[in-house]
Amino acid sequence: MKIKALNGFKDILPEDVGIWRRVEDVVRDVLERFHFAEIRLPILEKTELFARSIGADTDIVEKEMYTFTDKQVTMRPEATASLMRAYIEHSMHAARPVQRLFTIGPMFRHERPQKGRLRQFHQLDVEVLGSSSYRLDAELMSLGSLLFAELGVSASLEINSLGCPDCRPAYRRQLLEFIGDRIGQLCSDCRRRSLTNPLRVLDCKKDGCRQQVAQAPSLIDHLCPACADHFSGVRDSLERLSVPYSVNKFMVRGLDYYVRTTFEFVTDRLGSQAAVCAGGRYDGLIEMLGGPKIPGIGFAMGLERLVLLLKSSDQTPGQAAEIDVFVAGLGERGSGYGFALVDGLRRDGLRADMDLDGKSLKSQMKQADKAGSRFVLIIGDQELAGRRAPLRDMATGEQVELALDLESISTYIKERSSGLDG
Ligand code: ATP
Ligand code: MG
Repeated sequence: MKIKALNGFKDILPEDVGIWRRVEDVVRDVLERFHFAEIRLPILEKTELFARSIGADTDIVEKEMYTFTDKQVTMRPEATASLMRAYIEHSMHAARPVQRLFTIGPMFRHERPQKGRLRQFHQLDVEVLGSSSYRLDAELMSLGSLLFAELGVSASLEINSLGCPDCRPAYRRQLLEFIGDRIGQLCSDCRRRSLTNPLRVLDCKKDGCRQQVAQAPSLIDHLCPACADHFSGVRDSLERLSVPYSVNKFMVRGLDYYVRTTFEFVTDRLGSQAAVCAGGRYDGLIEMLGGPKIPGIGFAMGLERLVLLLKSSDQTPGQAAEIDVFVAGLGERGSGYGFALVDGLRRDGLRADMDLDGKSLKSQMKQADKAGSRFVLIIGDQELAGRRAPLRDMATGEQVELALDLESISTYIKERSSGLDG
C-alpha cells in the first residue's frame, strides 16, 4: 500500500522551491531595509497560549487547532502568540524600547483544504512591539505594499478600526440589537456567533448573511475620540506615504486580540481565499499574557497564496542553469579522474556534477542538458594520455581544449560564467 501525504499537507517540490526562495529573499531584503530582525520560534506551544491570546470563541481555537489532547500542547496555528510569549519570556522590552521582529515558518490549522487553503501553510509574520503611534500602523502597511510591489504582485489594501475596550461594548450592544431583528435570516454559524462573538457576523462570507448585515451600524461611526483620532492619523499617514487604500467597515479579524487598526491586503484572483495578508493592532495582548503593558501591531502574510499569485502572473522565468559544469567521464579511468575533478571544482566554488553509473556519452550529454549545465567537459583515456580535454559551451556549441588540471578548468569556467547567471 502506497503511503500518501495527509490531506491538506503538501510537498513543495524542487521545481517550486525557486519561487519560494525568491519570495523569502525579497522578504528578508525589504524587512532589513525597514530595520527588522528575524526571530525563529518553536512549532509546538502550550495550548493555553493560543486559547488565551487568540480567544476561545474564535474559529481557530474552536475548531482549527491541532492539539495533542494527552499533552496539552498545540501545533501553532499562527505566530503572533508565540512571538509574544518569546518577547515576554526573554524580557525583550528591556533590550530595546521598540522591537521590530519577523519570523517565517509553517502554521497548522485543521480546516477544509482548497486552493490557497491548507492544513500546513506558511506565513511571514511581522510584529512591532513598543509603539502606539498611528504612524507605525501606516509604516507597516507601506511595508506590506512594498513587498507586493517588489514581488510584482498586485493586492489592494483595506483598512478598518475595531475600536477599543472603551468604545466597543456600546457598539456591540447596538449591533446585537440589529442582529436580533434579523436572527432568523442568518446562517447557523452566525446565530451561534451572535451569542459568543457578534462582530464576527459582519465577516460571514455567506451571501445571505452579507445581505442582512449590509445595513448594520459600523464601528468606525462609533469610535471613542481617542480611537477616532488614531484612525484619522492612520489615514493621513497613508496619504502622506502615497499608499493607496480603501476603508472596509465590515472587516473584522478572526482573532480576539485586535484593537483599533486592522487591515488586509486582498486580491480578486484567488476566489474566496481573497486575503493574502492580514494584520492589526493588539495593544492589550502582551499584558494579557502576563507581560508588561506594551502596545503592539503586526501582520501575517500567507506565503502559499503569494506563491499562487506569482505563478498566475505571466512571469515565466526560463529554466535556470542548475550547474556550471557537467563532467562526462568515459571508461573506468576517465570516470575516476572526473570523480576527483568534480570534487575539486565544487571545493573551488563551482556547481558541478557527473554521472556515477558508467552511462554512455549520449546519455551523459542528456543528463547535462536536463540540468541546464553551461559547460560539459569530456574525459576519456585519450584525454588522460594527452593531458588535455575538450570543454563544450552548451549555449554556443563552441568547444575549446583545456589543459587537464583543476586550476585551468576552474579558472576558464569562472571567467566565462561571470556575469552570465543572474
Ligand atoms: P481566511 O479568512 O482566509 O481564513 P484568516 O483570517 O484565517 O484567513 P489569518 O489568521 O489572519 O487568516 O492569517 C493571515 C494570512 O495567512 C491569511 O490572510 C492567509 O493569506 C493566510 N492563511 C490563513 N489560513 C490559511 C490556510 N489554511 N492556508 C493557507 N493560507 C492561510
Ligand atoms: Mg481562517
